[in-house]
Amino acid sequence: MKLIDGKQIAREIVEELTAKVAQIDGPKPCIAFIRVGEDPASVSYVRSKNQTADKIGIRPLLFTFDDTITQDELYAKIDELNADTSVNGILIQSPLPPQLDEQSAFNRIDPIKDVDGFHVVNAGRVVHEDANGFVSCTPAGIIEICRREGIRLEGKHVVVLGRSLIVGKTFSLLAMQKGPHANATVTVCHSRTQNLKELTRQADVLVAAIGKPEMVTGDMVKEGAVVIDVGINRVEDASKKKGYKLVGDVNFGEVSPLASKITPVPGGVGPMTVALLMKNTVKAYELQNA
Ligand code: NDP
Repeated sequence: MKLIDGKQIAREIVEELTAKVAQIDGPKPCIAFIRVGEDPASVSYVRSKNQTADKIGIRPLLFTFDDTITQDELYAKIDELNADTSVNGILIQSPLPPQLDEQSAFNRIDPIKDVDGFHVVNAGRVVHEDANGFVSCTPAGIIEICRREGIRLEGKHVVVLGRSLIVGKTFSLLAMQKGPHANATVTVCHSRTQNLKELTRQADVLVAAIGKPEMVTGDMVKEGAVVIDVGINRVEDASKKKGYKLVGDVNFGEVSPLASKITPVPGGVGPMTVALLMKNTVKAYELQNA
């Protein structure tokens, strides 16, 4: 079994982007983060994205709002950032409080600044295999892992657990695209799928994005499969300082001896998501300055 070091791959991408941004004369690319409320996970994600942007030379701007903000107040900030030509990318940290309509907020972002790739236009561009669109960062990160780890998807049976726009559905669309990085035969499973184990055992590449701690057990995986664990789940652990530990959707202890390659949690897909966000921001800058 080979452990896929997502941290190292993400570091390489960050280094490549740092070199690219250093070549830019004049104002550097700029990303604006909108965070609503003080959800600890959101605070930590935005902090980490901010720091990575800074490291690369991308100018980060942070706008924080109380969780009582209205949809119109949120729209007003998005409109202002859309109109500001010095801002290349806009990210609204999910989840938003329940009174806000998240997808409508994503759709308010100018699609050319939608570096998270959640705007309906960019989702459509994935379907159309339009390279000028923005692909959401986690699925794009998984494709990047496959490219850089020499995991060929062509002709392989890729089984995806989960059908969210953020991960499962978009990744399955990418894996079935025409092109040397894809061309897979894809099966997508979800909570209503029957005979899950029968399907997962057929996978040459198994991608788990369900949000259920360690649900994928050894008996669900074919020997030699590549296993990509997207899940990030907090489970109580009194021995840890924070009182919890992070585990994936895959039971690592059972599955890793069977897999030919596997991503750990943490340190697998997670760091790739931030790296791909930065890649999208540089792409947004390039598209806006072409
Ligand atoms: P969602 O809750 O939006 O989607 C979960 C999907 O899993 C749904 O399609 C659901 O089916 C399916 N599902 C749930 N239970 C089962 C089951 N028992 N069997 C089969 N399918 C099931 O989650 P996300 O896609 O947003 O996230 C998934 C995981 O990935 C989470 O742990 C999240 O924290 C993590 N994540 C990690 C990221 C990273 O950077 N590494 C980024 C984004 C997410 P149905 O549609 O029928 O409800």
